[in-house]
Amino acid sequence: MRQVITLLLCFFSTAQVSAQPDSLLVSKLYEEALGRGECYENLRVLCKDIGHRLSGSESLVTAISWGEHLLASYGADEVELQRVNVPHWSRGTKAQATFKSKKEEGLLRITALGGSVPTEGMLTAQVIEVKRLEELEKLGESQIKGKIVLFNRAMDPLMINTGSAYGGAFDQRSDGASTAAKYGAVGVLVRSLTHALDTFPHTGSMTYREGVSPIPAAAISTVDADRLHQSIQADPTTQVSMDMDCIKYENRDQANVIATLRGNDKQTGEHVIVLGGHLDSWDIGEGAHDDGAGIVHVIEALRIMKAIGYQPRHTIRVVLYINEENGNHGGITYAEQAEKNKETHIAAIESDSGGFTPRGYNTECGDTLYHALTAWIENLEMYGIHQVKRGWSGVDIRPLKPQTTNLFGFIPDGQRYFDYHHSNRDVFENVNKRELELGAASIAALAIYLDNYLP
Ligand SMILES: [Zn+2]
Repeated sequence: MRQVITLLLCFFSTAQVSAQPDSLLVSKLYEEALGRGECYENLRVLCKDIGHRLSGSESLVTAISWGEHLLASYGADEVELQRVNVPHWSRGTKAQATFKSKKEEGLLRITALGGSVPTEGMLTAQVIEVKRLEELEKLGESQIKGKIVLFNRAMDPLMINTGSAYGGAFDQRSDGASTAAKYGAVGVLVRSLTHALDTFPHTGSMTYREGVSPIPAAAISTVDADRLHQSIQADPTTQVSMDMDCIKYENRDQANVIATLRGNDKQTGEHVIVLGGHLDSWDIGEGAHDDGAGIVHVIEALRIMKAIGYQPRHTIRVVLYINEENGNHGGITYAEQAEKNKETHIAAIESDSGGFTPRGYNTECGDTLYHALTAWIENLEMYGIHQVKRGWSGVDIRPLKPQTTNLFGFIPDGQRYFDYHHSNRDVFENVNKRELELGAASIAALAIYLDNYLP
């Protein structure tokens, strides 16, 4: 009998929570995140005990198992692993470069771009500097053949949105090697995609176009890119030597981690709202902001919902995607399987912009939801959330777009994100506990809002 009474009390207290007005429910989320939060400690474990976790690596295997067990321990109704075939590449043990002109010589701090071929020993060639890919066409094979091309266009400092500035300089990294190879270049150096002026090279994805013979590609720190620029200005015959021993392995099967909180409404319980981030990271630094923060945000959102006794109307899924950085096979596989299984996805939220102070959400949703959200967000004013903007949601959830346009990207302050992004500086110490916790609560708040608003 006592058990029955306890169960009934549990039921009523849970029902009360669900029926409370928005602002009271939201304050409970923030109280749980800030007063009893676990995301900061979870991030410490992910960064310090497991470390960086590139697709195909053993550390990603460990991280997948960590995520699976953590989500189960927080009371998810089910946790499953979804097989994903991913590329497996290693930067090897060497990334050395020097320059030499008539007047001076020195070290250059570089790191291979993800997927680069090795140099096959020391590669030495004259270096030629360009700011834009189009310049290569003008220079032509006669001036490029046999040389190393330095792509040295900085991210635009006048753009307030750093993500847009990153996007504006991105083609050098993604397509620089293929474009330069077309004109006979033997290697490329790409100015690191960061506003920071420092000595840390920032890696990132690149692809080789079909029909072009691949040439080695490395990121160079902004300080060294400036130094090399000065050397080339003073002596156009400046030479660069670079040595990288990257290795490409066979693809490997790894897994997305999927945790489910089942919806309690007969009509809508089967419909899915997804919260996700990406578990893989680049293999330098610790993947703390990118995207350890997003991973612990969404895990914490699930923990908070359970802790305050929230019972979702729809099915809430937390997905730890893999392979966002170099292929997005995690996001693509998830969307393909959802379609194949005839699941109904009604919304997806991604956190992949770092663990900084929350500002709001980007969305690709339709007008009705957008206007409702704009009105609701006033409830979050006291938590520092002001923005609902139309814009990019996230790489991992984008493949779901044919199934739902209700896609959301969590937007924290972005001014420092690219100081750390894809570099040795992306470590746990550079994430602020309180900012991280506010982010987790902000994501839980949006998820609960959508759960209540959407039919
Ligand atoms: Zn990321």
